Amino acid sequence: MVPKSEENKESNAITDFNLACFVCGSSDIVKHFALKPKSLKASHNIFGIPVYQVSADGFDFIDYNQCKVTVCPSCFFASTQKQMFRQKVDAPLPKLLQHPEFKNVWMKEQEQRKKGFQNFIPEIASVKRSSALVVKSYKTAIEASTTLAELNNSVELAWHTITLRLTLAEVLMDQGKPEEAEALLRNIQKKAAELFKTVKNRFITFRSGRLVMLTAVYFGNEKIADRYFDYFQKLKSQKLDQMKEEDQKLFNLVFGEMKRAYRNKADYFHENMNGFRLKKNND
Ligand SMILES: [Zn+2]
Repeated sequence: MVPKSEENKESNAITDFNLACFVCGSSDIVKHFALKPKSLKASHNIFGIPVYQVSADGFDFIDYNQCKVTVCPSCFFASTQKQMFRQKVDAPLPKLLQHPEFKNVWMKEQEQRKKGFQNFIPEIASVKRSSALVVKSYKTAIEASTTLAELNNSVELAWHTITLRLTLAEVLMDQGKPEEAEALLRNIQKKAAELFKTVKNRFITFRSGRLVMLTAVYFGNEKIADRYFDYFQKLKSQKLDQMKEEDQKLFNLVFGEMKRAYRNKADYFHENMNGFRLKKNND
């Protein structure tokens, strides 16, 4: 019998969870790689995405961003969220996967996806994936998450898709592809601006607004940076004390970061940065 979880054979910083796929129902094991707490020392880029460069004492180094996406080797459903995969035989289908259309929409492309993955199948179960598979795993997870967000009309999942894209941008930067990483970032900025304009949920408004402003500072687009910063400043003076306590907390956190970037624009300008990370480590 396959154990529910086991030590990863390539890195002792990782625990393997042997899961199954809800989407295609195949009997193949889906490997989910969980990072052990305190095994890697992570720093964060300016968008809050973790960057792994060193392991803690006694742990094998692994760049966790490279194996964060769990991929079903049969239908290639991919996600960074463990709860999207079956952990127990009798586990109920997660709410977001219950949409009656999703399975059909996803399975329709199975043959085509299979072709795209054909050279990578053995690597899917490895934490040391090739650069090409890493990129592919994120693109597939983005596709799945986008589809699920649209079908379920879920703004939380729309935001989750943005964080997947931001992680892919970090991965591309790390792979030495700054043009691709920055092109993706411009696309992310557009999507974040759309969410900012259309979604009424404060969690999304604060985070997407911050992301649009940080991206504008990064690319040196002062007009956009000013506009978003002013919006948050007005919000602080006019509406902050009417907000719920948890919204106030989130606002203060987000606005604190925005102020830091706004007041140190030169440090956050792309030409003065180390990829998406600050050169001076004041994060
Ligand atoms: Zn599957």
